[in-house]
Formats: sequence, structure tokens, C-alpha cells
Amino acid sequence: MSGIEEHRADIETCFGTSCNFCERNCPVYKILRIRTYTSRGKNRAMLGLIDGHYDASDKMADVVFSCTLCGACDVHCSLPNTERFIDLRRELVKKGLGKPEYDGAMKAMKETGDVYGRPISTSKIFEDTKDGDMPLYLGCQYKGNKNEVWDIIKVLEKMDIKVKITDDESCCGYIAHVLGYEDDVEKLTLKFKKDYPHEEFLTLCPSCTMFTQEEMDLNSVHALKHVHGLIMDRKVKLKDLDMDVTYHDPCDLGRKMGLIEEPRDILWAMGVRIHEMENYGYFSLCCGAGGGMLITDPELVEEMSKQRMKQAIDTGVDILVTACPTCESTLLTGSMLARKEYKKRVKVMSLWELLDQALE
Ligand code: SF4
Ligand code: SF4
Repeated sequence: MSGIEEHRADIETCFGTSCNFCERNCPVYKILRIRTYTSRGKNRAMLGLIDGHYDASDKMADVVFSCTLCGACDVHCSLPNTERFIDLRRELVKKGLGKPEYDGAMKAMKETGDVYGRPISTSKIFEDTKDGDMPLYLGCQYKGNKNEVWDIIKVLEKMDIKVKITDDESCCGYIAHVLGYEDDVEKLTLKFKKDYPHEEFLTLCPSCTMFTQEEMDLNSVHALKHVHGLIMDRKVKLKDLDMDVTYHDPCDLGRKMGLIEEPRDILWAMGVRIHEMENYGYFSLCCGAGGGMLITDPELVEEMSKQRMKQAIDTGVDILVTACPTCESTLLTGSMLARKEYKKRVKVMSLWELLDQALE
């Protein structure tokens, strides 16, 4: 267990403290109510492994991979827990205890450069952007959604940002990273850097942005951060939409990268009033889709998305706005489930949709 041995001091601190603050906004614990699934529970399992009290097993893998890696435990704790959980995932994968459900996604990524295995050529689809000057990386979630991407490109064009989609982009490696497939991460990031040599580029997906910045040390800028700068410098004129919404912070965009005020500033600049949910900002509640759980446990993801949409319903507004393609589709499902149970529908919208309306 040499790979995880380096975490001993932190884990022993957790063992000694056992304060359980980490369970407060853990989306998995909120549904399952089993402490083994909290950050502390996983830390204890890890200590048992390091001390040789038991061997890694499929049962342990079930617990370790039942985590959205949302980082809510980290904001309630002085220890960097989620980094450790990724290391533990790596250790399990090395021992052949990765989840078999991930095999398809990993195979697709390696063979096609797309997590869904779709033979999508970005250069053919977005040929019309070849005269642009600002590289834009779409990422797997947006790549297959041509219409939504075109709507975003049009919004950016209205702000005089002429983007350029690169030839045949491939997965940045983020998914392999969170699933613990270390060897594949290395291959994917090498390929990414070769195919994507730009010094500065815009991104749309929070996870790709975070991964390319933190793990690859690249100068990627989330497109909303760029747009926020233009709006704050009064270089863009926005219409007053006079609306009431709630805003869902995507974990990687908000809690992990600190882009919490920026999306709210953009909403306020469009005359949109924000009614915050019980959990927001750094203490936001995950939609449930992170950490590969959409592949291993879609039913639990549905429950988590429903619990988040219940918080949206409780604000009394009819619209939830977010800024991540994965949160958007997950919360859409959550909205339908919550509607059945609580008899109230909250529409899920992308921040880009509102920007489009405000720029017309
Ligand atoms: S909050 Fe941190 S130290 Fe406390 S039990 Fe949870 S993981 Fe351990
Ligand atoms: S990362 Fe999120 S889901 Fe995982 S243990 Fe921490 S709070 Fe729970």
C-alpha cells in the first residue's frame, strides 16, 4: 500500500478527531445515511489497508467509487480528502479492483478520444470557425451537442470573441484521472498537449478547465470568466431580463476553482434576481453526477439530483440556472423526478441561454 502510505498522518488526524463535520453536505451520505460512505468512513477504510488489517476488496471499491468527488467534505475539514480518494482509486485500479462498469468508457476514450466512443470529428462539424482567433476546447460533454455549442459560439461572437474549434479534439484525460486509471491519464494528457498546443484557450466544461489548469499546468480560461471580465469592464451591453432564478454552483467551477461570484455578477448584470438555495457557493450541494457515479450508480445519482432540485423548489422560484453541461442534464432528470414527488416544476437553464436572451 505504498502509494497511499503517504496519507497516514492526515488519516490518523481524522481518526483522532472523528468530528464528522464532513458528513454535513455529503450528497451520498444525505441519501444513504451510512457513515462508511462519508469522508471519515473512507479514511478509516484507508487506515485499515495501510495498517494491513484487511485487504482491498470489491466491497471496499463499491464504497470508494460511491463518491461524487464533489469536495463538500473538504470545505468542512482542514484535510484535503478528495485528493486522497483519487489516490485510493488508483491503488484499487492497480490491484484490478476498478469498477468493471468503467471498462467501456476507458476503452472508448483510448480508441476514439471520446468518453462516449462517438466518432465525432470536431474539425468537420465546426469548420465554420476556422477563421476565428481564440481557441475553444469543447470537451466530451459539449462535443456531441452541436446546437448548444453553436448557441454559445453565437453568444461569444456577439461579444466580439471569434472562437476557433481545433481539429479533432480528444478527451483531456479528466475522466481517467477521477476513475483512477493513472497510466491512461498519462497517455491522454500527452496526446492532448500534442493535439492542443495553444498557449491560451477558452473552455466550456468546468472539469476540463480545472484539469487542464491543475494537472497539465495549461493556460485554460473558462469562457464565463472571460465573459465576466468583459461585462465588468462594461464592454458588453446587456438587456434587463427582470427574472427570478436560483443558481446551482457546479462543484468544479465553484468550490474547486472559486468561480462563485462571477456567474452571479453576470446574472445581476442581466437584471436577474438570485434566490439562493439552502446550500450555495463553497457549501453548495452536488447534483450527483461527479466521480463517475453516472456510470456505476445512475439510480443513486437520480436521488441526489432530486434532493438538489428539492432545494431549488424550496426557494419558490421556477427557474434554476447553472453553468456546467453535466449538471444541466443531471438536474433536468432531477427536476422531472422532483416534479412527480413535490408537484412543482423548476425549469433548468444554462447561463448561456440567459446570456443569449440578454444580448439580443
Ligand atoms: S471532517 Fe475531516 S477530520 Fe473530521 S471526521 Fe470528517 S474527514 Fe475526518
Ligand atoms: S467528495 Fe463529496 S461525495 Fe465524496 S465523500 Fe466528500 S462530500 Fe461525500
